[in-house]
Amino acid sequence: MNEPLVSVSGRLLSEPTCFDEVLNQGRAVNELRRRVQRKQHLPSIVLHGPKGVGKKTLARIYAEAARCEAPTEQGGRCDKCSTCKSFKGSGEPLGFVWANGAGEGLPRALRKLAQVGTFGERPLFVVVEAEKITDEGYDELLKAIEETQTTFVFVTDLEKSVRAAIRSRCVNYLVKPLSSSATRQFLCGELAPQRASAASQVLDVLVAHTRGIPGEMIRVVRLVQSSADHSLDAVRGELELDWPLELAGAWARILRTDIDGWDLPEPLRAVPVNEQLRRVRALLLYAINEGDVGVELKGRSVTDAALLHRDKEFAKLLIGELNAAAAERGVSSRQLGAHLTSFWCAYVPPQHAFDPPAVAPD
Ligand SMILES: [Zn+2]
Repeated sequence: MNEPLVSVSGRLLSEPTCFDEVLNQGRAVNELRRRVQRKQHLPSIVLHGPKGVGKKTLARIYAEAARCEAPTEQGGRCDKCSTCKSFKGSGEPLGFVWANGAGEGLPRALRKLAQVGTFGERPLFVVVEAEKITDEGYDELLKAIEETQTTFVFVTDLEKSVRAAIRSRCVNYLVKPLSSSATRQFLCGELAPQRASAASQVLDVLVAHTRGIPGEMIRVVRLVQSSADHSLDAVRGELELDWPLELAGAWARILRTDIDGWDLPEPLRAVPVNEQLRRVRALLLYAINEGDVGVELKGRSVTDAALLHRDKEFAKLLIGELNAAAAERGVSSRQLGAHLTSFWCAYVPPQHAFDPPAVAPD
C-alpha cells in the first residue's frame, strides 16, 4: 500500500498557456479559438461557470492570442511579436486592460477609453467579477460596448447576477467542468495506480471530490503526489474528508434536533453553518438510502466524496440509529426519514436565525 501510486508526468500541472493545454475542452474553448483564427473578436463575451473551472485562465489565454499580431494556426500566441513581448514584460500591455468589476480600475479605464477614443488595434478589456460592476461607469461601459470596437470579456461565477443589459449585448459561453469519466482519465494518468483495488477506490474519492474542476484536480494530484501514503484513509485525511466519522459519533443526538433543538456537536463547530447543514443532510441521505451513494447526474458525480467507500460498520451504525429513533417515535424508518429530510432542508440553527437561509445542497 505504501508503494508510490504516482508517476509524475508533470505535463499539465502548471497553468495552461494556450487553448490546447486547457483541460476542459468544450464549446467555450472552441469558440474562443475560432475567434482568434478568424481574427473576429466582436461581439463581446461573457464567460461564466462554476468557481475554479478556469474562466480567468481562459480569458487570459484568449486575450493574449487575440492581441497577438501573428497567432498560430491553432489559435495560440506567437510569443515573438511586440505585443506578445509586452505581455511578458512588466506593466500593462498597450490596448489591454484587466479590471475587477467591483473595483475602481474599471471606471478609471473606461474614462480613459472615452478620452482617447480607442486603445489601438484589437483593444481588449477583461472584467473579472463582472457581477459586481458598480453604477459608477456602468453607462459608460454600455456606451463603450455599443460604440467602440473594444472587445470586452466579462468573467463571472454568477451569470444571472450580471446586468441583463450587458448579457444581452454579449455572446454568453458556459465554461464547464470535466465529466466524471474525463476527470477519472486525467487523474488516472497523473496518479498511475499501482494496486488496482485500493487505487480504484482512491480514484472514486478523488473524482467525486474534485467534481471536474481543473484547479481542484491539479491541487489533489499535487497533494497526493507529495504524500508518501496513498491509502484510502491517508487520502481522506489529506483532503479533510474525515468528518463523517466525527459526526457519526453524535448521530443519535443529531437525529433528535427537531425535538431537542440544536446542540452543536464539537466536530461541526469549526465549519461555516452552510457546510454544517450540508454535512448533516448528506449523512441523513446516506442513512436513508442505506449507504448507497452511487449517484450521478448528467455524467457528473453528485456524491459526497467523504461518504464514498465507507465500510459496512459505518453504514450499520447510522442506519441502526435511524431505525432506533423511528421505533422510539412509533413511526417507520421511512416516515422518519421523510420527516427529517424536510426538517433539515428548512432548518436554520438558532445562532444563525438572522443570517440568510442556508442554500440547498447542489
Ligand atoms: Zn504574438
